[in-house]
Amino acid sequence: MKKIDSEAKIWTLEVVCNGRKEENFLPCGQAWEVAEEDIVVRKEWYWDSEIEIFGFICPDCGTFTQFEKTSLIPEYIKNRCLIKYRMEQEKAAKSRKKVRSILEKIFKRQRAVEN
Ligand SMILES: [Zn+2]
Repeated sequence: MKKIDSEAKIWTLEVVCNGRKEENFLPCGQAWEVAEEDIVVRKEWYWDSEIEIFGFICPDCGTFTQFEKTSLIPEYIKNRCLIKYRMEQEKAAKSRKKVRSILEKIFKRQRAVEN
């Protein structure tokens, strides 16, 4: 049996760069056809809990636009995007931890030299 990936290739969405959920940029209003690989996941505070939101970054002006309706993205694509995003977050957290432990070792050594 062979996995067919055609569904993901076919799925696209027409969107407009309108800067939804972005305050520090000026959206350019360009229309785009986005595919799965263009979806950007971001974390956002909603009341007292963190939620993951879906959007895209405009190649022309760099503005982030949140999709008006998340329901326009099929569940399986949202799930894949979330998995990818969480894996990247985990990787970043691990490398931060590594840097911290290296710095701690250096400080410890420095303290030992000073004493
Ligand atoms: Zn734009």
